[in-house]
Amino acid sequence: MSQGPAVAFEPFSEDHQAFRRTVREFCEKELAPHAREWDEAGEFPKDLFRRFGELGLFGIRHDPAWGGSGLDYWYVVAYAEELVRSRNAGVGTAMLVQGEMATPIIGEIGTDEQKREFLAPALRGEKIAALAISEPGAGSDVAAIATTARKDGGDLVVNGSKMWISNGSRADFLTLAVRTGEPGFGGISLVTFPTDARGFSVSRKLEKVGNLSSDTAVLYFDDCRIPRRYLLGEENQGFYHIMTGFQGERLVAAVTAISASQLMLEDAIRYGQERKAFGRPVVSFQVWRHKLVEHLSRVEAARWLTYRAADLFNRKEVAVKEVSMAKLVACDLAQDVAYDCMQLHGGMGYVVETDIARAWRDVRLLPIAGGTSEIMKEIISKAVGL
Ligand SMILES: Cc1cc2nc3c(=O)[nH]c(=O)nc-3n(C[C@H](O)[C@H](O)[C@H](O)COP(=O)(O)OP(=O)(O)OC[C@H]3O[C@@H](n4cnc5c(N)ncnc54)[C@H](O)[C@@H]3O)c2cc1C
Repeated sequence: MSQGPAVAFEPFSEDHQAFRRTVREFCEKELAPHAREWDEAGEFPKDLFRRFGELGLFGIRHDPAWGGSGLDYWYVVAYAEELVRSRNAGVGTAMLVQGEMATPIIGEIGTDEQKREFLAPALRGEKIAALAISEPGAGSDVAAIATTARKDGGDLVVNGSKMWISNGSRADFLTLAVRTGEPGFGGISLVTFPTDARGFSVSRKLEKVGNLSSDTAVLYFDDCRIPRRYLLGEENQGFYHIMTGFQGERLVAAVTAISASQLMLEDAIRYGQERKAFGRPVVSFQVWRHKLVEHLSRVEAARWLTYRAADLFNRKEVAVKEVSMAKLVACDLAQDVAYDCMQLHGGMGYVVETDIARAWRDVRLLPIAGGTSEIMKEIISKAVGL
């Protein structure tokens, strides 16, 4: 009987892998040694944005006309996977916001003027970008945002506040969601917003459970005037653009969760081989071997679910269901992996300075930011007709 055609799916070419090795070396040599110091300081050096820009890490899939490299999405996957090796999720979040969350939307729907003024310097790491959607009264419910942009002659006048904005206190500009029309999703627009606009202020930097080196801020807008040419895309079409942009954000969250899970497991296995109890390496107890192989198997399953979503995304096909499933599965899985890997470390797992303690704090963000696990379930329910 015919076996049918053989199916081989290997997303990473030799070029992707060479790129991966470069990013890994950079993360392990230049970033990881500072992971603890930057967490304790509550920030990493601002110069890192320029360093990432010089290495071309912000522009991987962006248009070469604006300083990007125009590469396929598998390079982004390799980059996000290796960024975890910096062992500092604060740096990872900040850099992914810059290259993969706040700027792709400008590349897709911005005018040449907006691309010249905001996108190109952001890809070089000269300007810091933030994506400002969430508000004190509207996180999951994006359609409820209340920050307004009123037309006044050739200007837009922005009033309101934004909450939990990554890169918020350092940002030179925001990709900002504002209400320009009726209540609900049909009255939202996006604008590029320079943070030197008069009336803009950073109310405060939030102290967080994890992601300690990233800057997460509350922003305040008091009669901020920006020119109307800063409107990004069509007026009142912002909700649609935000939802499209969320696909890339959720995909890198899934990739990050899987890579973080993999790294936690590698660390736990190494620790469990060295640490002895009752005259044996703790990893040799059956309960630990079984837990570790269960997690390794689940991580592998989540990885291929995520690669399936990444493949659709790379081919610019609709992947809302697959991306939401990947984010849900990978980010929830990272919680179980973190719990067990910390448990395997015993008392050392509870010592703040250890890698597993940092990872445990950091991965807790994954099922919350960029759309919670509950919201992923709502989206998947709709997609499957429930
Ligand atoms: C460290 C950090 C960084 C962030 N960075 C950014 C950023 O850069 N830019 C930005 O715009 N935002 C950012 N966010 C905001 C983040 O996206 C929101 O916190 C998230 O979307 C959840 O919104 P919320 O906090 O308002 O929770 P809420 O919407 O108040 O939800 C509270 C709880 O209710 C659940 N819930 C809500 N609606 C439903 C429903 N329909 N069915 C079932 N359960 C529901 C939620 O899942 C959650 O468990 C960041 C948040 C954090 C913590």
